[in-house]
Amino acid sequence: MPAGPDICPLLEEAVLYDSSAIESKKRIRILDVSVDRVSLAEAAEIFEALLRTEACSLIVTPNSEILWNAAKDAGLKAILNDADLVIPDGIGLVYASRVIGSPLAERVTGIDFLDAALRRLAETGESIYLLGSAPGVAEKAAQHMRARYPALRVAGVRHGYYKPEEEAAIVEEINESGAVFLCAALGSPKQERFIHTHREALRVRAAIGVGGSLDVWAGVQKRAPAFFRDHGLEWLYRLARQPARIKRVLVLPLFMLRVFAGNRR
Ligand code: UDP
Repeated sequence: MPAGPDICPLLEEAVLYDSSAIESKKRIRILDVSVDRVSLAEAAEIFEALLRTEACSLIVTPNSEILWNAAKDAGLKAILNDADLVIPDGIGLVYASRVIGSPLAERVTGIDFLDAALRRLAETGESIYLLGSAPGVAEKAAQHMRARYPALRVAGVRHGYYKPEEEAAIVEEINESGAVFLCAALGSPKQERFIHTHREALRVRAAIGVGGSLDVWAGVQKRAPAFFRDHGLEWLYRLARQPARIKRVLVLPLFMLRVFAGNRR
């Protein structure tokens, strides 16, 4: 990929042309992972285009923790770089994009993107399959999704605590459900690996990894109030509610240090 003279090694900008309906999208690179510089509206448009393609498109929603893990896990990094849509889900990515001189338009949370996707599916009558979270959570999430979008068709649900040998049967169940969109809320990297491993076998048009989003839809976890979201402090709110997340939150400054270090090279 050609890089301009004033572009640091961490940043490569490219306009990707896809043979499908996806005309073009701008990508930046943060810690060697391509991230789409998209607004929520643009991401929703790309989603619509991906649903018109035959193969199973992979949508990922990395935050700084996921990019940090990818820097240490070549397999995860390869999966992220193989995704069709990489949504910048985290204030850390927005800060990093400023450091490397190519600011992201905005932070697009996986949960907001999922909401936009549900609205679109409710309009077209296409269906979604919900995989992940503890037993009972996906059912409850489906109930709340249908309350918000009465026309939404949830083709199937399944919890995310299964044995590896059950994966093939789960893929079969998703295929038989007729869903066009798979929402995998298994936590990272389990969700990305599941989709990537079974990409060829899955007959859905697109699949996304969305972390704890079903917990929020089900009401098991509360979403941070608008003040925290608007000020990039969602992580602080979640930390206050779940102090055990401290180790995960500490990754954010480490991630930023790595971005700064890379930018000075
Ligand atoms: N989870 C799952 N199967 C597993 C491990 C985790 O379904 O084997 C679910 C877990 O119940 C939770 C989600 O994956 O609903 C991960 O949530 P987390 O808060 O870690 O995700 P984040 O939103 O921080 O990315």
